[in-house]
Amino acid sequence: MTPSIAIIGAGLGGLVLARVLHVNGIAAKVYEAEASPDARAQGGMLDIHEHDGQRALKAAGLYDEFVTLIHPGGEATRVFDATGNLLFHNDDDGTGGRPEVPRGALRQMLIDSLPRDTIHWGMKLIEAVPSGGGPHTLRFGDGTTVVADLLVGADGAWSKVRPLLSPQTPTYAGVSFVETYLDDADDRHGPSAAAVGPGGMFALAPGKGIMAHREPGAVVHAYIALLRSEDWFRAIDFADARAARATIAAEFEGWAPPLRALITDGTSAPILRRIYSLPANHTWNRVPGITLIGDAAHLMPPSGEGANLAMIDGAELGQALAARPHDVEAALTAFEQTMFHRSAAAATDAAALLATLFGPASPASLVGMFDTALARS
Ligand SMILES: Cc1cc2nc3c(=O)[nH]c(=O)nc-3n(C[C@H](O)[C@H](O)[C@H](O)COP(=O)(O)OP(=O)(O)OC[C@H]3O[C@@H](n4cnc5c(N)ncnc54)[C@H](O)[C@@H]3O)c2cc1C
Repeated sequence: MTPSIAIIGAGLGGLVLARVLHVNGIAAKVYEAEASPDARAQGGMLDIHEHDGQRALKAAGLYDEFVTLIHPGGEATRVFDATGNLLFHNDDDGTGGRPEVPRGALRQMLIDSLPRDTIHWGMKLIEAVPSGGGPHTLRFGDGTTVVADLLVGADGAWSKVRPLLSPQTPTYAGVSFVETYLDDADDRHGPSAAAVGPGGMFALAPGKGIMAHREPGAVVHAYIALLRSEDWFRAIDFADARAARATIAAEFEGWAPPLRALITDGTSAPILRRIYSLPANHTWNRVPGITLIGDAAHLMPPSGEGANLAMIDGAELGQALAARPHDVEAALTAFEQTMFHRSAAAATDAAALLATLFGPASPASLVGMFDTALARS
């Protein structure tokens, strides 16, 4: 008998898993806490890598459609120091191996690729209780219960499924990002838009940085990074946008005006994103009928890999289940061993990237990294 499969979370990982199962003729249900696909803005650009994200989209049969979403020029990269000296630039034309797409468009493409009754919106998992050697009883916020033979936690950083496999919880990574947007950037914020250029821009100093990206529709999206404690950020009232902007901008006193304007001239209120991670070598022992993918399995500081890893996890788990439809445990074992190895390496790289971006040698350290990568290509 085909096992019933419940995927918790309609992020990129859960959606790719559902899609790869679907193209292999296996039905699954996705339960998502948010009320609808557009309940929360899915801002930001994602660079989708050949070796993982693009491979996942090929397994999902969606590669050609993905290509239509690529933002031309999005791979261009610039590095500045605090005073606005351009230290590195690579004005790539978008034909490299890491094309950029808007996260919202990518997610919508995956949602649209699934049969209508696959995703159940507004279904927040409250608890999952093992009911004897494999199946789990799932209880949702609306009081509904569902029994699933296979439970997949694709429910992100604060996974409700993870505690059934592992006692680990995310810890603060020592850095937070404050997100700002400049709308109509070319017309209303010309010098900042010109500094950011056609793709991504890093302006860095030890312990801090401004990382910005051009998005479709003349929007510039910035992450202001500060290596500060959680308590330091807690003392800022982000409900008071003006005061929050002023406190963050004070950390960038003396920086070149077009860079600092990415903080002070934000169109909407700044949004705090605290960065958490799981240990780089996070693993668990096999537990019948349950596994994790994406951030639920291997949350790490942003390094441009997290969404790609979530997608390749989803694709490979789908393929493993399709290859062994009557031996789910063997499929899960094979999948997890490959995933553990891949995510440990990526998490180690992510921690090293944090040091490259914001360590004492910044920004020369990032320029060195890009120069080395260019020399190898
Ligand atoms: C500031 C920042 C910038 C980033 N930039 C990049 C980047 O440029 N490139 C990149 O590759 N990665 C980036 N990442 C990482 C990337 O966003 C994540 O790794 C990726 O989204 C993980 O996908 P996922 O499907 O595992 O989880 P998520 O995208 O978190 O999706 C989980 C889903 O589960 C749902 N959910 C949660 N709990 C429940 C519940 N109890 N019941 C039902 N549903 C639930 C959530 O609503 C959500 O829809 C960034 C992360 C941050 C914080």
